Amino acid sequence: MLVNMKEMLQTAKAEGYGVIATDAWNSTSLKAMVEIAQEKKAPIILSLAEVHLSNITAKEMAELAKIYTKDTTVPMALHFDHGMTFDEIVKAIHAGFTSVMIDASSCDFEENVRRTKEIVKIAHAVNVSVEAEIGHVGGAEGGGDDGLGSLLTDPEEAVRFVQETGVDCLAVSVGTAHGLYTGIPKLDFERLEEIAKVVSVPLVLHGGSGSGDENLRKAVELGISKINVFSDMLKTIEVNTEKAGEDIFGLDREKIAKESVKECVAHYMKVFKSEGVCQ
Ligand SMILES: [Zn+2]
Repeated sequence: MLVNMKEMLQTAKAEGYGVIATDAWNSTSLKAMVEIAQEKKAPIILSLAEVHLSNITAKEMAELAKIYTKDTTVPMALHFDHGMTFDEIVKAIHAGFTSVMIDASSCDFEENVRRTKEIVKIAHAVNVSVEAEIGHVGGAEGGGDDGLGSLLTDPEEAVRFVQETGVDCLAVSVGTAHGLYTGIPKLDFERLEEIAKVVSVPLVLHGGSGSGDENLRKAVELGISKINVFSDMLKTIEVNTEKAGEDIFGLDREKIAKESVKECVAHYMKVFKSEGVCQ
């Protein structure tokens, strides 16, 4: 069932597990995510990133999500990921998304607050939850580089940002990056602990892919309630397709892609301790 992300993450925070957030890019990936969440009795955040709008529109994704989740019982949020432009975020809300992210993390503090507040006002009026980011998680969604580097989150600034904007959850920068790493990143757990101590809303970790299961499990234990995973799904598809050899043809690829998404999501549900929490 489709729900707002606010309560879902507050429950996760209170019960000490993390909810996986996965970017879907077409109907197959979305369906795989809905199916595995229901199978594993784990909440999920079905996301569509603004940079992926050339694959599928927010309206199309929202219609599909309504159909696929119709008979499901576990909570699923439909979330617009890394909303950069005002118009696209409002379009997603209008299309039926239950949650949006406004990402103005590349702007200075005041401008980030201003843009975030604007979206919070609109979204909250129609019961849609809002995520924003303070500090900056480097790299680009799905690989590449946004050229901005990473800027670690300052705990005091995070507190001020939440107070001034009224966001429902906050993405923080503690050492992860978008895309694939060459090694396992070193996370700044001390900083995360400090942020979790002073910030009242659930915290979000972007760039979960390739960060190492131990690191991610620890991040959840220290107060992360939502973890974004994308590149690892693509990697699982690639590895499994390669394993299938040269004989695969046509729709076999689609089948492998669907099973790979489920395999990757199921793995992380276990790591984040969310498997089986919705009995
Ligand atoms: Zn991200």
